[in-house]
Amino acid sequence: METIRIPRVLQDAARTHRRQGKSVGLVPTMGALHEGHMSLVRMARRENDITVASIYVNPKQFGPSEDLSKYPRDLEADLAKLEKEDINIVFLPDDSLMYPAGFSTRVEVEALSDRLCGAFRPRHFSGVATVVTKLFNIVSPLRAYFGQKDFQQAVIIKRIVKDLDMGIDVAVCPTIREPDGLAMSSRNRYLSEEERAAATIIYRCLSEAAGAVKSGIIQVDTLKKVMREKLMTEPLVSKVDYCSAYDPERLEELEQIKGEALLAIALTIGATRLIDNLLVSVPSST
Ligand code: AMP
Repeated sequence: METIRIPRVLQDAARTHRRQGKSVGLVPTMGALHEGHMSLVRMARRENDITVASIYVNPKQFGPSEDLSKYPRDLEADLAKLEKEDINIVFLPDDSLMYPAGFSTRVEVEALSDRLCGAFRPRHFSGVATVVTKLFNIVSPLRAYFGQKDFQQAVIIKRIVKDLDMGIDVAVCPTIREPDGLAMSSRNRYLSEEERAAATIIYRCLSEAAGAVKSGIIQVDTLKKVMREKLMTEPLVSKVDYCSAYDPERLEELEQIKGEALLAIALTIGATRLIDNLLVSVPSST
């Protein structure tokens, strides 16, 4: 596994691989790697000749009051995990190389970036869109891998690829969960033992709502009531940003579920903001 820190060096290496007719797969991450990340890495490894993983805590996607400075970093363990999967390249840029003096471009995806998490994290998705566009331009991968856990992020990235004719195949891989259902996240490291136990409420709530949909409850007001009541049973939930059903492409809140819907929650436990989602569907004849 080769470690590359300089964008231009990675650009040249990826170009050489492509010229040799090799397919290149990219897995962008912010590190503190867990099994969710590793599932993307393994998928990329299976589907491509060359796998590139990036580890970069992108300052542009953190708000001024967010956790940039304390975001978990564990480079040594991350490199060991990637080495074990036998990937080809790990990209470890730093801020001065990603955003040198004079950097002034931002990628904005209208409408989609203002919904769900975007309503609570202004400029977050433009930070994500900007860094992912840079990574795409540096690596020019054939395929790029993202997790369903960050559903809105994946929708926005697919939109960029389509709108800007990037011709990259964006794979959205299933959410990997702890045995008790909690979606794996680097931010789970912030949770105290008590908070960690409380955090299972998110998946329990999504599962209950998915069960309600299956049993024929398709009015979103009713589902929201079911979900809110469930969340209220957990005293360590200090704030609920959103908790409802959304159109999985447009990310608008639904009134009634017809076809596919995204059940999604963002809430705070202690000082930690967590998100999760489940896709549900009802036969369109219902
Ligand atoms: P992050 O390091 O949090 O920016 O995540 C890097 C990539 O891993 C993103 O595409 C995430 O959606 C994905 N990811 C994070 N957690 C999970 C998970 N539990 N299961 C699957 N993918 C995940």
